[in-house]
Amino acid sequence: MKFGGTSMGDAECIARSAKIVVDGSRDASIVVVVSAMSGVTNRLIASATRAQSGDPEAGPELVEALRQQHDKALTALIGNNGQRRQVQEQMEAILAEARRLYDGTALLRELSPRTLDSISSLGERLSAPVFSATLAAMGVKSESIEATRLIVTDKYHGGAEPLANLTREHCEECLRPMLKDGAVPVVTGFIGSSESGELTTLGRGGSDYSATILGAALAADEVIIWTDVDGVLTADPRQVSDARTIPEISYREAAELAFFGAKVLHPKTLNAVVAAKIPVWIRNSFSPAHPGTKITPQGRSNGGGVKALTAIADVSLISVGGPGIVGVPDVVGRTFSTTAEVRANVLLISQSSSQNDICFAVATPDAERTVTALRREFAKDLTNQKVEHITLDHDIAIVAVVGENMRGTRGMAGRTFSALGRRDVNIIAIAQGSSECNISFVVQGKDMKDALEATHSEFALGAAAAARP
Ligand code: ADP
Ligand code: ASP
Ligand code: MG
Repeated sequence: MKFGGTSMGDAECIARSAKIVVDGSRDASIVVVVSAMSGVTNRLIASATRAQSGDPEAGPELVEALRQQHDKALTALIGNNGQRRQVQEQMEAILAEARRLYDGTALLRELSPRTLDSISSLGERLSAPVFSATLAAMGVKSESIEATRLIVTDKYHGGAEPLANLTREHCEECLRPMLKDGAVPVVTGFIGSSESGELTTLGRGGSDYSATILGAALAADEVIIWTDVDGVLTADPRQVSDARTIPEISYREAAELAFFGAKVLHPKTLNAVVAAKIPVWIRNSFSPAHPGTKITPQGRSNGGGVKALTAIADVSLISVGGPGIVGVPDVVGRTFSTTAEVRANVLLISQSSSQNDICFAVATPDAERTVTALRREFAKDLTNQKVEHITLDHDIAIVAVVGENMRGTRGMAGRTFSALGRRDVNIIAIAQGSSECNISFVVQGKDMKDALEATHSEFALGAAAAARP
């Protein structure tokens, strides 16, 4: 069971989440994975940036605020002084480490990806002992464990990949005996450790991935991701008000939604369970009676083709092209070797054959460095005026229409684009993979909500889901 930031928001949320574990542990062995308390990771990173600019107060201020926040939760949750003091001691050691990390950053005005990982991991390191002590106070034997002891990863700081075999060995050594002993291990989400012992993180929102990595390592019966909505919905409920829960969805569809921005799931979450075919549930810790969404290898057909929509707002469109590009050798190859070199995640590609224009979308934080690298790559061609343009458009959004059954269902693209036309939404670029599991298109940022609402109603997603049991 994984509990996300909002399920760890304050003492009341933590108590509600812990109660779910206590109830569940009556007839199952449970490993818990926790996120940092809501908002903590963002604050840790913001203060790290302040420290990097030389502000010596950024770290100490945040450390004090975190001490108070966690202490307040602890006091509300743990009545027993001895138990509380034990957790406080653990917390003080972590906060002292935090001070040293921030002091070093401010002193050197340097924030390497490795240091940033150590700083951003502090939220989970603080929340896990609080959750574990709460379980103990509710009468369930429990121990908190830092995932650096369990999840072995490569060395790619800020987005590390797990090494499954070593992780399995560590889990067998460390978690299995605790489970046999009837205890509930509470593991820090989001973090791991390289083979040489450096702390790594799995990327923002990565606690979902931690849960499936551990689930696969232990051959769990199921993984339950507890969040603040009733499962995977037909669209982000913050964008589309009549979005509904999808009872069952395939790995493929859920992964596609996550890749195209549905925040409810980290994009790599399902990678870890594909081989073992472990079902993953998305459920609401604020409403535990709701069954939520079951993510399974095959999913369940809704008959209608389109299952859900998703959108990413913070994207930029880069175009390489113009008629002159015709004579330039291997434009496509060179363009995408360049994006790979700067590790830009390419979200969508579209190429027009007549003019050899390529346009592709990347996350906005990746955009400037991608364009700089492309201008360098094509510098010679640019002097000769062959490549006419490498341009960047910041204010765009990608909307994706997703559904496994779209394959072989005629008219999906037509209906999508007619609905957008009627709403007066201009489409800048379109991509449909050969899998036909999604149609994605680029619109102006300001049109994103209209595009979502128009397609959501065109495919009767709110009503269709409601009509099912
Ligand atoms: P957690 O803190 O539990 O990890 P997140 O904030 O990361 O939770 O993810 C949950 C949020 O994802 C929801 O509150 C919702 O606004 C957003 N979301 C985006 N798209 C969807 C979708 N299709 N279904 C459900 N939630 C979605
Ligand atoms: N706390 C981390 C983040 O905010 C990981 C997570 O919550 O999944 O990115
Ligand atoms: Mg999340």
